[in-house]
Amino acid sequence: MFVRSFRSAALAALATVALPAGSLPAQRALPTPASILGFEPGADRHLPSWKQIVDYFTAIDRASPRVSVRTLGKTTLGRPFIVAFISDSSTLADLDRYRQIQRKLMDPRLQAAGERQKLIDEGKNVILVTSAIHSNESGGFTTPLVLTDRLARAQDREARDILANTIIMLVPSQNPDGVDIVGDYYRSTLGTPAEGRDPPDLYHKYVGHDDNRDWYAFTQPETRYTVDSLYTPWDPQIVNDIHQQGSNAGRIFIPPYMDPIEPNIDPILTAATNGLGMSIVWRMTNLGFTGIGSNASYDQWSPARQYSLYHRGARLLTETASARLATPIDIPFDQLGAGRGYEAKTVSWNFPSVWPGGKWTYGDIVRYQTAASWALFLDAAMNRRAWLEGYATQGDRALGALPAWGRDAWPSAIVIPKAQPDTQALRRMIWTLQHGQVEIRESTAPTTVDGKTYPAGSYVVLTKQPFGAYAKALLERQAYPDLFDYPGGPPKRPYDVTAHTLPLLFGVDVAHVTGAAPATGPAIKEMAEPTYTTALSGKTTKRIALFRPSASEPIDAGWTHWVLDTYKVSFTTITEKDLAGGAPNDRFDAIIFPDGTLGGGGGRGGRGGRGGGGGAADVFAALDAFANNGGSILAFNSSSNALIDGLKLPVKNVLAGVGNNDFYAPGSILAVEIKRDSPVARGFTATVPAIWFENGPAFEISDPSMATAVASYPATGNPLLSGWLLGGSKLNGKAALVDVKHGRGHVVLYGFRPQYRGQSMATYPLIWSAIQ
Ligand SMILES: [Zn+2]
Repeated sequence: MFVRSFRSAALAALATVALPAGSLPAQRALPTPASILGFEPGADRHLPSWKQIVDYFTAIDRASPRVSVRTLGKTTLGRPFIVAFISDSSTLADLDRYRQIQRKLMDPRLQAAGERQKLIDEGKNVILVTSAIHSNESGGFTTPLVLTDRLARAQDREARDILANTIIMLVPSQNPDGVDIVGDYYRSTLGTPAEGRDPPDLYHKYVGHDDNRDWYAFTQPETRYTVDSLYTPWDPQIVNDIHQQGSNAGRIFIPPYMDPIEPNIDPILTAATNGLGMSIVWRMTNLGFTGIGSNASYDQWSPARQYSLYHRGARLLTETASARLATPIDIPFDQLGAGRGYEAKTVSWNFPSVWPGGKWTYGDIVRYQTAASWALFLDAAMNRRAWLEGYATQGDRALGALPAWGRDAWPSAIVIPKAQPDTQALRRMIWTLQHGQVEIRESTAPTTVDGKTYPAGSYVVLTKQPFGAYAKALLERQAYPDLFDYPGGPPKRPYDVTAHTLPLLFGVDVAHVTGAAPATGPAIKEMAEPTYTTALSGKTTKRIALFRPSASEPIDAGWTHWVLDTYKVSFTTITEKDLAGGAPNDRFDAIIFPDGTLGGGGGRGGRGGRGGGGGAADVFAALDAFANNGGSILAFNSSSNALIDGLKLPVKNVLAGVGNNDFYAPGSILAVEIKRDSPVARGFTATVPAIWFENGPAFEISDPSMATAVASYPATGNPLLSGWLLGGSKLNGKAALVDVKHGRGHVVLYGFRPQYRGQSMATYPLIWSAIQ
């Protein structure tokens, strides 16, 4: 839609005449954001629609030789997904040359002898801006307009330095659908008590807030556009990731991050992120901005939200305090509270100035986000050479002696046998790794690991390759450190989950080679993503219902929706209204209750859909009758607890009332033993049975004649396979998955999320078989 020649843009710039000496070319009249939107960006109670944002970028693309806009594809709901390249017109005219320089700096194997310094002399500092992935963080889809306007228009020294030294790839929203899901609801509720609230539906069709947990699994098209069209060709030096946080502590978070640091991240990027963050804090403080917190809340653990930290780029997350979407709020100073790591009423090294309190507006959010981004651009421009030198050094380390950093030994390779229990899972794993720029090879001779021999032709991932550390992070088991708030105190809550081991999640066997790497051929071609199928795909006689509460759609319901759609399993979404009328056996054979859809709790993942509701007495009466009449009920994670109580099932959650000091598993992969002759375990194939455990229940059966443990934690030993687990002995011998007879039907209780973020492919068969 915006395809145009960069060269014609450059010619247009050259055609302008009558330049004062030393100035940039005068430009044709540039449209302002306000001239397109009809209001100033950041005006109270005015959110732009996605069409208005696209209209602005279309107009500025035509008018400014410094801006070139491209459409990368259609979003999940069919909107254009766009990126704006911003730089000097001469750079944009020669963009492919700069991409080649970037490529060579990234991969030393592509450099000619003695070429390095020339590449560093000529290269640009490439910055990717990903804004508004979270659609209720609404400053994120206005700030890009302000930044683009300033860069397109400015003739001052700062702007010239930025344009001359950087290439900015600006994604004005990483989730365009959500701009309208949130914006339409906001506009429809202006002047009502719901003004400023989140909409009841997820702001992304499937994944809501978890769209920022998709950066290694690549399940959603929006993730794929940014990875395929921006990360893979460019591997930018810096990513500016624009977010918002709660309202009542700091005005903005800027890195350094808090601990822990995932050990596969190159230390150069940790140091670069720290240095850049402090540079931004300094520049913003010069300009009078206050309430800036660092080393707080957000950690540097998971590739799920920080792809760039495994691909040569510092990730500068900013989190600005929210208003109520575009509606102002008032926060008196004495109501300001603590962030995790600082106290907003007290200065400290990581919170150098307090914000005095008072009115906080949409315009303030845009002002803070714009200032932070501008300071980032300035640092990138001023320190271009240091950024490119560090970037090139990372390439050397990735291909140098192992371990590439630190003292812990690295495997030389990971062997992935071609004979696997689940070929779809194998193909998905190869596709997933290759999609993250991992080179996959084939061995040219048999390889023996731990007494087991893998034939020539097995897949091999060498850890000595440009993104070997990324591959290692995804293929190994995580050892999350035992961190506590204070000695003897409660565990320090991670920002998100603690494990991301693909072989365990997918149910694929791998072997880590510790000695010399196996002999291999060249990297193989990219494998196509498999077509996902199950016995329920396409035509099935089973009538399936997926439950979500009408008040708020939990993220886990969205993920369940995604898994069912991906496997082409047809279903009907229902709410409590569909159940309150009585037993729906005439409509459905099975009803699925994702995490957080029944009772309280669950739905972890933050804004964009917490669960709850849907647990009234008439609902349980209907479910009781439904199962008694032969229906199947599936309950994931926290919803299991509500069904145990609501249907008086002969099962107990042994973790009920157990505090974090005694048991803690905030998102980890645990070992289970599977009762393979249970009908619910039919189709389960993983050699190492593993489940995704996150604040879940664990079961004890009180009447074995009525209930069967389909999956159980080992009777002895630590069940942790990857991530973090405290008090694991509480799980010994307890059930993770229980099939409870209920009249002529049954209730299947999952003490875990069997479809976790579209990743725990190994446990999908436990869903399909419970329905079949
Ligand atoms: Zn966010």
